Amino acid sequence: MAYEKIKPPEEGEKIGYEEGKLIVPDNPIIPYIEGDGIGKDVVPAALMVLNATAEKIGKEIVWFRIYAGEDANKLYGNYLPDDTLNAIKEFRIALKGPLTTPVGGGFRSLNVTIRQILDLYANVRPVYYLKGVPSPVKKPENVNLVIFRENTEDVYAGIEWRMGSNEALKLIRFLRDELGVNIREDSGIGIKPISEFATKRLVRLAIRYAIQNGRKSVTLVHKGNIMKYTEGAFRDWGYEVAKQEFADYTITEDELWSKYDGRQPEGKIVIKDRIADNMFQQIQTRTAEYDVLALPNLNGDYMSDAAAAMVGGLGVAPGSNIGDGIGVFEPVHGSAPKYSGQNKVNPTAEILSGALMLEFLGWKEGSEIIKKAVEMTIQSGIVTYDIHRHIGGNLVGTKEFAMAVVENIQSL
Ligand code: NAP
Repeated sequence: MAYEKIKPPEEGEKIGYEEGKLIVPDNPIIPYIEGDGIGKDVVPAALMVLNATAEKIGKEIVWFRIYAGEDANKLYGNYLPDDTLNAIKEFRIALKGPLTTPVGGGFRSLNVTIRQILDLYANVRPVYYLKGVPSPVKKPENVNLVIFRENTEDVYAGIEWRMGSNEALKLIRFLRDELGVNIREDSGIGIKPISEFATKRLVRLAIRYAIQNGRKSVTLVHKGNIMKYTEGAFRDWGYEVAKQEFADYTITEDELWSKYDGRQPEGKIVIKDRIADNMFQQIQTRTAEYDVLALPNLNGDYMSDAAAAMVGGLGVAPGSNIGDGIGVFEPVHGSAPKYSGQNKVNPTAEILSGALMLEFLGWKEGSEIIKKAVEMTIQSGIVTYDIHRHIGGNLVGTKEFAMAVVENIQSL
């Protein structure tokens, strides 16, 4: 691949992809984007922790710096250069810091653009509790979810027209004249597509994850009681993919009761479904009963933030955007410009996004080491301002927190 302004490192090897599986060398080249605002603080902190972890497990990550956001604009005159997209395509994995999306017309979110161009169709967020982190719920240790949110469709597909525009009026007339549906003329119109293809590939990824990681259930969360042919179909297609492609590994919740008297057989994952509003209660009242969740885009957006809040919020919430044989790992939080460059914010979310990246590479041991070391650090009272303001302790900066995590990794 020819690049305009960046040069891949000479050492290190490329991650491959064959028959649906990543082929990961012991010294993979991994591109990273520092991003805007506090990305400049948290990404270097995460690299430090990931390097120490790789060393601990006898591997090496060869980092390849690529650019997006303000940095890219300075270097290329473009916020999202082709070099960056091509490097992620070629090397398959990237660790990313947050990017600022200026408010106002004409500027599309760089994050959404990256997801669409690279077809990163699943937003995957693990939500688990780290001991010591302040939480608003009584038993945060019961939260251990992995949320698979569809990333390309639903009302987020961006198909909408302003009230009074020719397009909106044309559609309103079409709906009235051709389909007998009356919509007020002063309406803006948005369209909510949910396809069999996108639903099945998302649920397939969620079930495969559940199988590979010994999870107990996959819950399809939807609003199918109201939106039957989009949200309801999401549920039906989800059950279909389980039955058609994973019959040896899955049973439905109905079968759990009708055939197994409520006792989950060893090696079988229970596929269940819940209506979204009920599910928001259930994650709080019956938290331990939920495990892997698969949701359409909008429900998934709400659910992943609500769940993250239960275990300590933005500073500690990791995330990823995954496609077939490709993944971009990034914290849930944004670029928090007011804290930019102050060595102040919590790098945990970026560090744990790195842990998630290691899991995706098949380096589960490394991922567990990171989680443990972060937990040890917080439990020993070494915390950044966000946690300090709730529970006090030894207040440190971003870099010092990461250094403490590295020390703990080395001590494990
Ligand atoms: P934000 O950057 O996530 O920050 C909101 C607040 O969350 C901060 O003021 C801070 O709270 C807390 N916070 C965020 N990261 C933290 C960390 N690492 N440690 C401790 N606390 C942290 O949200 P925003 O201000 O709405 O968005 C800023 C920009 O980021 C926008 O341009 C937005 O579009 C963009 N964004 C990008 C991504 C992405 O790149 N994936 C995601 C979301 C938003 P306190 O003020 O209470 O200390």
